[in-house]
Amino acid sequence: MSREGLVMRSTGSWYEVLSEKQVYQCRVRGKLKLKGTKVTNPVAVGDKVLFHLEDDQQNQGIILDILPRENYIIRKSPHKTSHGHILAANLDQAICIITIIFPKTSIGFIDRFLVAAESFRIPAMLVFNKKDLYKPQHLQQFEDLQKIYEPLGYPCQLISAKEENGMDEFRKSLQSKKTLISGHSGVGKSTILNKLYPSLQLRTSEVSTFADKGVHTTTFAEMFQLDSDSFVIDTPGIKELGLIDIEQEEVSHFFPEMRALLGECKFHNCQHLHEPGCAVIAAVDANEISVSRYYSYLSMIEDEDNRR
Ligand code: GDP
Ligand code: ZN
Repeated sequence: MSREGLVMRSTGSWYEVLSEKQVYQCRVRGKLKLKGTKVTNPVAVGDKVLFHLEDDQQNQGIILDILPRENYIIRKSPHKTSHGHILAANLDQAICIITIIFPKTSIGFIDRFLVAAESFRIPAMLVFNKKDLYKPQHLQQFEDLQKIYEPLGYPCQLISAKEENGMDEFRKSLQSKKTLISGHSGVGKSTILNKLYPSLQLRTSEVSTFADKGVHTTTFAEMFQLDSDSFVIDTPGIKELGLIDIEQEEVSHFFPEMRALLGECKFHNCQHLHEPGCAVIAAVDANEISVSRYYSYLSMIEDEDNRR
């Protein structure tokens, strides 16, 4: 009899699979392949799998099949560039933890995160932490960013993990979802999760990253269970979130405000740089598209490395 389970973490050849409150150590037998894509890991964190028990005593199992994925995050394999590495699958949302100060998160970082989430078709949200340290001008910056991002479909929350401010709302955002959490080192990812779920006991510090605190290598994402049906996945960073395989001419498709103008430029292959009759540039001039978002767009299409 086969069981259904959720892949929580992987160490390369072994997978921890959660099924009805039990964790099983599973291996893959034979070949499980994603149709059409070459991948270095057949099974990813977040996958729903069918498995059967090999050894009841030891809770060991064999993964027989992967259920269809709703979405997945893939990046180029560091070793075999013709292959992709699937970081995580079946995510309900991606949250970027941001701080306006200590450390300052750049707009470029936020926008690359959002473009990556769009490209993987994962709803995204921005959470600003360390409110307790913000002076009036920083609170103003938050409000300005909120005015830019919320109309685009990215909810913004302002919290202080330290003073436990706004944490109930944040907790609600995680409820019954699989959430990918990203953000610079030091923005408070571990602190936030520890406050909400003390049993997680993630190490916090000034230097190390949430991702480094996982038991296994950072090559593999790791999923933490918050309650019976809420999970968070930590990612090593935005580079790993990856903007792979986005062609230069496709980048604007992942800016919702530019996507809305698709087909309105004079030239169908318009790059929105300095072409005449460009609807995007006209929208920037009319303050309908924020200048900071447009700058992020420019830096993404000009800097090849940002897309690798
Ligand atoms: P991570 O690298 O994103 O996991 O960040 P940590 O959780 O390790 O936090 C980095 C530092 O920021 C630690 O010294 C935390 O105590 C501090 N920190 C986290 N949240 C807050 C907050 O809301 N306010 C203040 N003032 N400090 C915070
Ligand atoms: Zn254009």
